[in-house]
Amino acid sequence: MIKPYIVGNWKMNLDAAEGTELAGKILHASIDYDSVDVGVAPAFPILYSVKQTVASSKGRLAVVAQNVSAEEKGAFTGESSISMLKSVGVTAVIIGHSERRQIFGETDQTINKKVRLTLSYGLNVILCVGETLFEREADSHFETVTAQVAKGLKDVPVDKIEQVTVAYEPVWAIGTGVNASPADAQAMHAKIREMLKSLYGPVMANKLRIIYGGSVKPDNAKGLMNQPDINGALVGGASLKSEDFLGIINFSK
Ligand code: PGA
Repeated sequence: MIKPYIVGNWKMNLDAAEGTELAGKILHASIDYDSVDVGVAPAFPILYSVKQTVASSKGRLAVVAQNVSAEEKGAFTGESSISMLKSVGVTAVIIGHSERRQIFGETDQTINKKVRLTLSYGLNVILCVGETLFEREADSHFETVTAQVAKGLKDVPVDKIEQVTVAYEPVWAIGTGVNASPADAQAMHAKIREMLKSLYGPVMANKLRIIYGGSVKPDNAKGLMNQPDINGALVGGASLKSEDFLGIINFSK
């Protein structure tokens, strides 16, 4: 049985006061960390204060970054490096979110560079993949998504792959209130696992987490989490309210 993983992607929401308040509420909630892994992904300026807020969880409530530079150091105005993120206690990075791909033009090559860099510093990766509505309607969604997985993981060796979670987030389901049906999500997760099997072998692929994102809410979480290849959720809008986020965590078991 794969331990589920629930991550709240706060995106560009919540300032220092709001973010530390929400982190405090999650910290003080009763979460059975033996049966679920939980992370929150605040914006860069408040990563440190959120990490301080949840320090007493001793890392069980993970602080995750939403992005990282593909470069290690130097004259890259406005960027934050992986070593900087590590130095403030970040333990995982979301890479290749569809908003990064679509709004900021990140390519599979850049994403792959970020993935390899993050892994080489010992941090975990949440690699996001997902098709657009156009690709789904053209029936190329399986091809698109499995190609994103293969390109994102290019040259990632088997001894690092356990640091990776794949997040399937259909672009048409993000922030729209329209989630993929549990059956459609499961079908894609099964394809992703097949791709992981071809890359890393069945034993390893069956240990890896594939989480779903896109309009996950407390009322649809259970149906999604009950699917055999859905091992958790990447939650946007519903992660901004402690009751909703904690509700989703409860349905993950
Ligand atoms: P959403 O976002 O839950 O608001 O749809 C999910 C995500 O983009 O990670």
